[in-house]
Amino acid sequence: KTDEHADLYEAHELMAKFYRHLLLNTEEGSEALAYLHERGFTNEDIDRFQIGWAVPQPEFTVNVLQKRGFSAERMEAAGLIVRNEDSGRYFDRFRGRIMFPLHDQKGRVAGFSGRAFNGGQPKYLNSPETPIFHKSNLLYHFSAAKTAIKKKKQFILFEGFADVIAAVRSGFQQSVAVMGTSLTEEHIRQLKRLADQAVICYDGDKAGLNAAFKAADMLAQHDLNVKVTVLPEQLDPDEFIKQKGADAFSAYITDSSLTLMAFKMDYLKRGKNLRDDEQKFRYIEEVLTEIAGLKKAVERDHYLRRLADEFSLSLQALQEQEKALFLKKR
Ligand code: ATP
Ligand code: MN
Ligand code: MN
Ligand code: MN
Repeated sequence: KTDEHADLYEAHELMAKFYRHLLLNTEEGSEALAYLHERGFTNEDIDRFQIGWAVPQPEFTVNVLQKRGFSAERMEAAGLIVRNEDSGRYFDRFRGRIMFPLHDQKGRVAGFSGRAFNGGQPKYLNSPETPIFHKSNLLYHFSAAKTAIKKKKQFILFEGFADVIAAVRSGFQQSVAVMGTSLTEEHIRQLKRLADQAVICYDGDKAGLNAAFKAADMLAQHDLNVKVTVLPEQLDPDEFIKQKGADAFSAYITDSSLTLMAFKMDYLKRGKNLRDDEQKFRYIEEVLTEIAGLKKAVERDHYLRRLADEFSLSLQALQEQEKALFLKKR
């Protein structure tokens, strides 16, 4: 049973080696390599993350796998090749893309994500769901990050795997990313076994903030201590590191990460004009709802006082309103 899909793993390992060779040692691969270097990826990154390049020709992978005796049907099931319904011929799924191997929990290559780099669409093409690749279970870099996560009791969660690569280069071994999906219960189950603190470092744009808000709540519901790093100027972590350097990133993660409630207060403020009474009251009501959801009375008291200070309101009025919301929640 455990070896049922051995051929699928073997084919992925083999292709990862081929793609790497094509990137590093061929003339055709030099454009892809130059793109990676230009983005700030080092040769050490390329080694560590086994980054490669798939040629644009449509039957490269097909031929490599066929020569080694892999069954075409199985390789189609693995998502490495695709069958043309009309001609019945097979061709490569990944063509002319920079190839990022996706390792499963045991560190086996179970899929790929291929990035277009000269205007091709879509930007990222992932392996489809296969017997060995389940996008919503997989955290990029999880198997390699395990030791660091366990030691630090902390993980840093990113949106994109380019961010993970840049963060690891900056010294954050405990970095992982979702594969372009929302955070799932299964992701949390894997992480929670090793850590008690979550640091969310999503893109600084609106989509990133919204996703961070959702992820933060889910992680807190699983009793993880949650911190959120909101990057300035709508930068994503990879861009931040490229522009400002690894030291600035380290400092930012360490000094500017917000507690869950501070992040929520920040988030709920966005787009509101707090000098307008109506919007202000809506904001206060939203924050009170969040406060009412806190498990610890001491924490509820702390944030109620903060809110009272910020808007020069009586603590008693806030407590009363919070209590009503609290009772509604139970
Ligand atoms: P890059 O820096 O290479 O542009 P990114 O990580 O900043 O990549 P985002 O657009 O922020 O890319 O998306 C975050 C993640 O979402 C990516 O790492 C990828 O896993 C996934 N993703 C983005 N675009 C696509 C797409 N078109 N198809 C599938 N997944 C995607
Ligand atoms: Mn984004
Ligand atoms: Mn991004
Ligand atoms: Mn990016």
